[in-house]
Amino acid sequence: MESDNLKAFGSAGEIGASCFLLTLNGQKILLDCGIHPKKEGYESLPQVDFSQGKPNTGLITHAHLDHIGALPLLTPQIPFFTTKASKSIAKIMLKNSANIQMKKYLDQPDENCIPLFSEKDARRAVRSLRTFSRSGTLQLRGKVFVNALPAGHILGARSFFIQTPTLSVLYTGDISLTDQITVKAADYGNIQPDIVIIECTLGAEENIAVQRNEQVMNFADQINYLFARRESVLCPTFALGKTQEMLAICDYLINSGKIKPVPIAINGMGAKITRIYRTYLKNRMPYYNPIEVSDLSYSTLNQLLESGPMIMLFTSGMLIEDTPSARVAEQILPSTKHGIFFVGYLDPETPGYKVLHNPMGSKIQLLKNKIPTEKLNPNIKSFRFTSHSDKTHLVNLVESLNPSKVILIHGEKAALENVKNLISNQVETIIPKRGDQISL
Ligand SMILES: [Zn+2]
Repeated sequence: MESDNLKAFGSAGEIGASCFLLTLNGQKILLDCGIHPKKEGYESLPQVDFSQGKPNTGLITHAHLDHIGALPLLTPQIPFFTTKASKSIAKIMLKNSANIQMKKYLDQPDENCIPLFSEKDARRAVRSLRTFSRSGTLQLRGKVFVNALPAGHILGARSFFIQTPTLSVLYTGDISLTDQITVKAADYGNIQPDIVIIECTLGAEENIAVQRNEQVMNFADQINYLFARRESVLCPTFALGKTQEMLAICDYLINSGKIKPVPIAINGMGAKITRIYRTYLKNRMPYYNPIEVSDLSYSTLNQLLESGPMIMLFTSGMLIEDTPSARVAEQILPSTKHGIFFVGYLDPETPGYKVLHNPMGSKIQLLKNKIPTEKLNPNIKSFRFTSHSDKTHLVNLVESLNPSKVILIHGEKAALENVKNLISNQVETIIPKRGDQISL
């Protein structure tokens, strides 16, 4: 029988496409199967290798595309398990992913970027997803027992505690170790895993989390400054997780009288996923009814901006060219009215990063086939409302779990190295590369 091991197919040495094959007691368990957020076509897929046998089971931690994006290519062969909420979200995420891939290909045919799957494949994949029972446990063959534990992060997210009679492994997936309004912090009870496979998205030194209450109050102050001048704010948000958490934060600020009760607008995917959050989180989702904007023509966007103070939670979170948030930003950036408040991670190669960091007077491309927009707006701010964990939380978690081996994944090099430096004098710490096989 093959000895216990972990193979890294993606998200190793980078954030990338999460996908790992865990072999325990002869059972092969595929952990997540995402696509690379910065790559396209076959390049975006994890490098799976089933030469030593196909997985018996797949486990999906949550419904971000870097954890589920390759599901339609693997579901015909492998039974995957996830939570009911993740299954509901996956339906929307994978359908949208199929449509975007097809549209891109039709707009600009490129044989290296052939769509990986169709909308029909996405539907079939989601239909085949099995869901955990209320207990969140699963008994596999070979005396392998799986326990799905709350991971925080986004609705439906779970970490997996996988045990055999001789070894136990915790695979965190993406985790938040502090409460958000929409989802509480990860909760592992008092498990004592031998091996911990842990994400390090925000492990770098500069990503130290700011006190959340402080951020919320600072956000409110800046909003009040704009509202006093009857101006609006654009918060570019990710459709899944950030839109709903920002909606909840704005709802809290309005209900507690900390900001004026102004309309909040959301759009497209953000609106669709908000409906799922409302279904699953009846008590924790705001009663406040956002306006769902479907007409994103310039005249409508202009009308919205000029109709008085408003909060726009529009996708995409990084102002990717031509997206609704980029269209609104294109109107705000060259004026001295209104503001753009970033509330999530910005990749340095994206327009959002340039809008925040480039000096006044610089020109930034927000729309394809149009001249770049000049940055003249003084109200461009950034706030940290993270759904991941910083290095302090990650290190504290590892110390409390007290494993004999830690495998660091899902982070850029600086983040992975930083966390390794902080824990490697206490516990054996490994940063795998893609394709590596680690004995457990
Ligand atoms: Zn995630």
